Amino acid sequence: MPQALKRLGVLGWPVAHSRSPAMHTAAFAALAMPGWRYQRLPVPPELLGETVRALPGAGFVGANVTIPHKRAALAIADEASGAAAEIGAANTLLLGEDGRVRAENTDAGGLVAALEQSLSGDGSSRAGLKGLRVMVLGAGGSARAAVWGLLRAGVGELFVWNRTASRAQELVHELGGSAVASPVTADVLVNCTAVGLGQTANGEASKTPSDLQQSSSEADALNQLALRIDQLREYSHVVDLVYRTGGTPLLNAARRLGARTLDGVEILVQQGALSFELWTGVRPPLDAMREAARAD
Ligand code: NAP
Repeated sequence: MPQALKRLGVLGWPVAHSRSPAMHTAAFAALAMPGWRYQRLPVPPELLGETVRALPGAGFVGANVTIPHKRAALAIADEASGAAAEIGAANTLLLGEDGRVRAENTDAGGLVAALEQSLSGDGSSRAGLKGLRVMVLGAGGSARAAVWGLLRAGVGELFVWNRTASRAQELVHELGGSAVASPVTADVLVNCTAVGLGQTANGEASKTPSDLQQSSSEADALNQLALRIDQLREYSHVVDLVYRTGGTPLLNAARRLGARTLDGVEILVQQGALSFELWTGVRPPLDAMREAARAD
């Protein structure tokens, strides 16, 4: 008898932009797993609960969850991992044959894995994130996951700045770290805001005679993040969860000033790899996933 298909998908609204289908489909191809499928699942918020409950009946064994459903997905779940419960959001669901829904969060582990990998490639002898000073920008869902993961990874000091200061204060009250009125000097800067998503890519980097010259899109982005261009020199590593073709204004500026940078695609790949292993029990083919995510 032929084996039933095992189906996975990404729940979002909208979800057309997601690179997860290409990434997971490439992983199944690389590992010769013909019985697995991964698709987009565009679902409006009011239909999320009933859609998730119907998924096991249609052969789904799991799902990723993206904007705007991450908090709601946790609320729908019958059980949650410590990470999902403490962060307050789920980006991964495991759907049991008995209909039970388990919520997981791999955003935190994905960021930590990507950052540790990036740090280990910078030629220094430091031991991962242990003892580092980290400046997190943002206080939304991804900032919560970042703070939770970075504190557990042993960073020395962690600061949180957010446009709406009260949200940064709430975040550190619940998860730890210190809220600051403006970004402070640190080893690592992590942008967890949506700033950079809508800006035009900066194509001027290679044409400018001075590294202090900047495009208006960079200036806008840095303004929105309460950063000055010269201040960017204070961070040896700059991370942006946002990703876009041509690079984000923040990463383009940081790279030009000599910082090591880590973009959101690598973080997407690492969180996807953790989800893949949770669903399949198989070690994920990182290179194939990375290549597909970057090509998509
Ligand atoms: P969210 O919960 O909606 O939070 C948005 C954050 O961005 C808030 O801190 C908000 O500040 C801030 N923000 C929005 N517009 C701003 C502006 N013009 N100026 C300054 N701050 C602004 O979103 P999220 O889930 O945390 O996601 C944030 C970004 O990370 C998104 O672009 C998302 O695509 C990206 N992301 C990437 C990955 C990945 O795997 N690479 C994973 C998750 C998220 P206020 O509180 O003041 O509104």
